[in-house]
Amino acid sequence: MIQLPDLPLLTTTQDKLERWQQTIDSITVYSDRVSKGKSPFSLYNKPRNHTFKQVRDVLTKMCSGARRCAYCEDSVADEVEHVKPKDLYPESVFVWENYLYACGPCNGPKNNQFSVFSSLTGDFTNVARGRSVPIVPPEAGNPVLINPRLENPLDFLQLDLVDTFYFLPHYGLNTNNHKRAEYTINILRLNDRDYLVAARAEAFDSYRARLSEYISSQSLGVGEAQLDKRVKALQRMQHPTVWREMQRQQTLIPELSDLFDQAPEAISW
Ligand SMILES: [Zn+2]
Repeated sequence: MIQLPDLPLLTTTQDKLERWQQTIDSITVYSDRVSKGKSPFSLYNKPRNHTFKQVRDVLTKMCSGARRCAYCEDSVADEVEHVKPKDLYPESVFVWENYLYACGPCNGPKNNQFSVFSSLTGDFTNVARGRSVPIVPPEAGNPVLINPRLENPLDFLQLDLVDTFYFLPHYGLNTNNHKRAEYTINILRLNDRDYLVAARAEAFDSYRARLSEYISSQSLGVGEAQLDKRVKALQRMQHPTVWREMQRQQTLIPELSDLFDQAPEAISW
């Protein structure tokens, strides 16, 4: 998971979302805001809806590869995901910064799972609502789940490029941030799905091969335009986290440091 680029909506689209949100916010009772907030979202979140078409267009520009999911970077993103679940946070149903494009296999299990560090006690608190319990606001607190719209997941996570291709909490984190990393990895099942782990290992090979090709082309005197094309193709690949980690960890892995020594400009691609 990488931090997604901060792309703006058209003013008209932003205004529309804000108006829809104000309608929900004007409902006095929380449980009504929850129940009545969901139906306009289902109603408007349709391919033919002009506002949501623009929402989806901009979310698409944030995706890697051929519209890959912002969480797993592997499957096609086809669901407008609320990072903060709309069942718990009706005040965020139409909030632009709460949206990203995700795939079903990520969005499904995450569903309404959510946890916070309680504002009262500071403790990790699961605020997911069980069935047949009163619909009351979740305990206040800062979210545990890392939000790639607002923060850099790689400040919290690192990817093991040498052996397992598992995500791990970044070294040196404080207790809460370590918990955030573990929680995000688990809720999104980033290590539990074998096909994701295998795809990250394959992406590592593909990125390495593309960088080698670039170096060979450069030594053969291929023109700038062709080289630029190769760089852009690499930047459009899925699993961008693998590439970011290759840049970050290149001095620690001899086969990578050798390649980056030959093309030091690749550090900033
Ligand atoms: Zn996904």
